[in-house]
Amino acid sequence: MKRLGDVIVLELPATLMGTPSVIYPVALVGPDHILTLVDTGLPGMLDAIIGELHAADFTLGQVRRVIVTHHDLDHIGSLEAVVHATGAEVWALEPEVPYVTGERRAQKLPSPEQAQAMLADPHLNPATRALLTREPTRVPVSRALRDGDLLPGQVRVIATPGHTPGSTSLVAEDLGCVFTGDTL
Ligand SMILES: [Zn+2]
Repeated sequence: MKRLGDVIVLELPATLMGTPSVIYPVALVGPDHILTLVDTGLPGMLDAIIGELHAADFTLGQVRRVIVTHHDLDHIGSLEAVVHATGAEVWALEPEVPYVTGERRAQKLPSPEQAQAMLADPHLNPATRALLTREPTRVPVSRALRDGDLLPGQVRVIATPGHTPGSTSLVAEDLGCVFTGDTL
């Protein structure tokens, strides 16, 4: 965990494509010590998120809002767990909403037909098998964000589609920070 003023950078160790890595969601500290979490890492990271918040003297219960930069699994993997544990609202850019609510299939997954063919291969990599058989994320979104929206804490929404249809970046104007998800 790194604390930069009102920004807590969570450091969540992960293995991506067999390679050790670190995932960096952030928590923005607002008035009354309310937290806005930006992204939630991979599935199974709730305990690691709690640990990192504790290291910064916060608790998960202080998370009242999660802003999703985009729906890739390393960004929304623990979203359901966080929402279930906290009742936090979920906000996402409008074009990204159906991928978070589960109305649309995750963009980077193969088609159902392709997935069936892959799953028929007994030598399929176990991590890929787990990904293909995973239940999709289905989380209600409370607020569909639009380009230019100014959120509490002087956080400006900048639509940065491309990586996914509704990828968003956030500019914390008071803090001089921009959070880009996977846009850069
Ligand atoms: Zn991504």
